[in-house]
Amino acid sequence: MSDTPEKLLNRRSFLSSAATVAVGGAATTSLVLPAKADTPIVGAQLPNVYRRKLGNYEITVLGDGYLDLPHQIWAGLSPEQIDGYLDDAFVPTGSLRNGVNAYLINTGEKLILVDSGARDLFGPNAGLLPGNLAAIGVSPEDIDEVLITHVHPDHVAGLYTADGRITVPNAEILVDEADLNFWISEAGQAQAIDIAKPWFDIARDWKNVYDGRIRTFRGETDFGDGISSFPLPGHTPGHTGLRIESAGETLLILGDAVISAAVQFANPDASAIWDTNAEEGKKSRRTIFDVAARDRTLVTATHLPFPSFGYVDRRADGSYRWVPEEWRYAT
Ligand SMILES: [Zn+2]
Repeated sequence: MSDTPEKLLNRRSFLSSAATVAVGGAATTSLVLPAKADTPIVGAQLPNVYRRKLGNYEITVLGDGYLDLPHQIWAGLSPEQIDGYLDDAFVPTGSLRNGVNAYLINTGEKLILVDSGARDLFGPNAGLLPGNLAAIGVSPEDIDEVLITHVHPDHVAGLYTADGRITVPNAEILVDEADLNFWISEAGQAQAIDIAKPWFDIARDWKNVYDGRIRTFRGETDFGDGISSFPLPGHTPGHTGLRIESAGETLLILGDAVISAAVQFANPDASAIWDTNAEEGKKSRRTIFDVAARDRTLVTATHLPFPSFGYVDRRADGSYRWVPEEWRYAT
């Protein structure tokens, strides 16, 4: 008959105390050295950088930090329902802590940045991208291209400073035409919910700063080097997914098609209030989840927990499960 967990725990504590007695030679001896009380608690990770080879390429995830999102950002779901999803995922309830990631693709010949973080626009917990880039010894001048999944501030603001200077001086910026046009439009801004109205001003500022350096594309586009885009509309009108292929390996970068691992794999119909077309967004999310699950394709997305690589598992009930990729000891 097997032991209950309680019995096992009791036996373990018994064994460790017995070892202490045997090794120490006296019942009062402890193997633990006196604690050093003056070691400060740091409260932060070392630079948020994670490298992964993809075929002949190397993808570096650059953490930009995190954003805490209140439950009110979810359309039509109660705080209790959201807390239920968080509890099921063993993450703290009450609000949602979301990572912000950017990606540096090294093809061996080119450095391509995907999205650029939030700079200082969403408070002090994001905007870490420049420091993490410096930590891996890459200068912003070395970046050849920047691919933008959509023109939201937490994806484009890292490309210019608060006083209007460009941060990647030698890069060409690639963005979906419909998305750019929407985020600089007066009509879009007039119809937007209050929280999203300033995002249009940021998009215009960003476009002005990069005037002449932005090249637009339309929907599905082949950029060469095994990198292509595919439309994932709904979060924004021209929201773009990216497919990266090298030497038989594939990675799908989903942008913000999913913003919460805990909520939206369990409930792919959960939408943020700022999605410009929630129904379209749900369809995009389910479609790409199905494709990723069917093909067992490696996936990542901007706000999934760092380092954000993983797989999508489809459950019999039509929901999904996020399966984080195991840490790679060698890239
Ligand atoms: Zn985002």
